[in-house]
Formats: sequence, C-alpha cells, structure tokens
Amino acid sequence: MKRWNYLWIVALLLCGVATANAQTNPQLSINETAATSADLLKATREYKSNSEDLLKLQEDEIKKAKQKLEQLRQLVADGLVARNELAAAEDSVAALQATLEATRKKIGDAEHMIAEIQSEDIRKTQMVAQAGLVNKARSLVRPTVLRYNGAANWSIANLGGIQNFFSSTFGRSLPTSAVGQSATHNGLGWDHRNSVDVGLHPDSVEGRTLISFLQTQGIPFLAFRGAIPGVSTGAHIHIGRPSQRLS
Ligand SMILES: [Zn+2]
Repeated sequence: MKRWNYLWIVALLLCGVATANAQTNPQLSINETAATSADLLKATREYKSNSEDLLKLQEDEIKKAKQKLEQLRQLVADGLVARNELAAAEDSVAALQATLEATRKKIGDAEHMIAEIQSEDIRKTQMVAQAGLVNKARSLVRPTVLRYNGAANWSIANLGGIQNFFSSTFGRSLPTSAVGQSATHNGLGWDHRNSVDVGLHPDSVEGRTLISFLQTQGIPFLAFRGAIPGVSTGAHIHIGRPSQRLS
C-alpha cells in the first residue's frame, strides 16, 4: 500500500515538474509499472536534482529582476518613468519569488520522500536480517540426524546379536526404549514394527560404540541428537530403516 502511495506522489510531483519545467526536462516521466523502491528512489532523486537545477535558474532570474526593479525605482525617483511601471515590476518579482518558493518546497518534499523510501528499505533489510538470524539459530538447535543406510538385510529378529555385543562390551544390557511397535509410535503415527529404539545419545561413548558396531555390521540406523517434533521424542538411536507412516 505504502509503495503505491509513493508511486502516486512521485507521479504527481513529476507531473508538476513536467509542466513547470517543460523546456529544461522534456523527457521527465515515470514508468508506473516498474515501481520498485530502487526505481522510486532513483526517480525521486532525479526529480530532486532537476528541481535543484530549476531553482538555480529561478534564483538567477529573480536576481536579475530585482536589479531591474532597483534601476526602475531610480528612474521613477528621477521622474523619468511613470510610477505605475514600478508596481508592475514589483508584481513580477513577487510572482517569481512565489515560483521559487514552490520549487524549494518540491525539493523539500523530495528529500522527505527519499528519507521515507530509505527508512522503509532499512526496515525491510532489518526484517530480512532478523529472519536470517532466526533461521540460523534454528539450525543451530536443530538436532542433527545421522542416517546410515546399511546394506544388511536387517530384521528385528537380529536384535540378539546387537544386545550380545553391547552387554559384552559395557557389562550391562542394551538400553532399549522401544522394541517394535510402541504406544509412542502409534501416537506419532509411525510404523515401527521392524525397528528398535535405544536410549543412548549418539555422541556418548556407548552411543558412538553402538553406531560403529552397526556400521561394521551393515545394519541401518538413524541417530537423533534431540527431539524433532512429530518424529523423535528425544536423543536416541533408531535401529532399522526409517519408519514409514502408518496408513
Ligand atoms: Zn525408532
């Protein structure tokens, strides 16, 4: 909405300058369809620059008119020229002065608009930067999922071999949190019938040892470093193929 307001203001300002300044800027116009803020900024700067050029011409013109007026005053004082000639010349200077003030106002308006377009651009840039930071923060906290597509023909019936390896290595049983389908998996809507979840963080010594064992055996797994909404309730190692949605 704001952009269209700018556009209309630019269009109106340019129409104004086109009539006021036809001989100096015959080509001054705006392509309304290409109204990006960069285009608006460029058009407004051009408008301001043209107005400033016009202002210089008008200042010269008024300076000359004032000089003539002074000469005329002298001639009237000397009784060489009729007094009513003086009034006409004074009106002319006043009219030029009014035109000059109008040009100054246009320059001021253009400056104001340039500032508004720039602050709008800065606001947008900040929003984009902020969104970037949020995304970056998200990716930092997002738990990494390690995926290993083992070639072995994995079946939940092979779980015994993994349990034996783990208990013989660490002297305790494999901390499984779900063997096959569980209430949690039903709740999340995953088919977990041929998978086993192990409650180990993939970066822990036990977790890393289990992962390297699974890799040497060609057993597929997924390792979660944390919770992923709707997928994983926390850090764990999922032994088996990635779960399919329960249909
Ligand atoms: Zn699982």
